[in-house]
Amino acid sequence: MSQVTHRVAVRPRAQPDPLSAPAGYALPYLPGGCPADFATWPARDGRYPGPHLATVCPTCLPTHRQHADVSAPFPVPPHHPMISFAGPTSTPPHRHDTAGGNPDLLHLLTSAGFVRAGWLPLPGFDEPFVADHPADHSRAILDIDGIQLYLHEPDTGRPFHVHAGPRVNLAVVHAALTCAGHSTPAIATPPLPPSAQLLTPDTAAHLITTGAHTHGQHGDLAIDLGLIDALRNGAILAVRLPDGTLAFTPAPHHPFST
Ligand SMILES: [Zn+2]
Repeated sequence: MSQVTHRVAVRPRAQPDPLSAPAGYALPYLPGGCPADFATWPARDGRYPGPHLATVCPTCLPTHRQHADVSAPFPVPPHHPMISFAGPTSTPPHRHDTAGGNPDLLHLLTSAGFVRAGWLPLPGFDEPFVADHPADHSRAILDIDGIQLYLHEPDTGRPFHVHAGPRVNLAVVHAALTCAGHSTPAIATPPLPPSAQLLTPDTAAHLITTGAHTHGQHGDLAIDLGLIDALRNGAILAVRLPDGTLAFTPAPHHPFST
């Protein structure tokens, strides 16, 4: 499918839940019709649910208009999210019943610049809480399976993805945001040796897989896979010690205190 260049702003007449902070959202507008399959649908926008559900075309526009006010199509820059908050202003919801009831996580995300936050109808997620960074299209998605972070390397702009969950570990989120070049408030991370560097799950998994660390290549694939699993589900944290070795520590239950 060619580049999707336009969106329509959708304002539902009945808000589904008081949780939904934004008054509306934007969906892709496809003048050639909503396709049956959408191979290039980005992961940060959920899973393409099939035609006429999360996209709008001339055929389904009247149906969408039965439930919502739908604007005329408007152009967006390249790489704009498929589904995004509508309107130019940010809507940080300073509420304790958002971000999974986790005000510390919300504070961390908004401090790092993810200020456009609230419920977004991303298909494939269960009532996701989404926080967008307006400048670089980075996105955090929180739902019952944990948090998905779609970030960019600060030097190259290359996208990378971190998943932590189902229990969200704030130290992991903090490390991921820092790796992406976002300035974040200091949080109480577990005690680490001086000069040790906290790694994101993907970075640690990469180092384990490639053996690119001191004492790498120990040759036990089962241990490596177990470590990577534990990193990805947030059970342990990985740090790189000053001498280049990797060390692992159980993830604390409450790493962040206000
Ligand atoms: Zn359609």
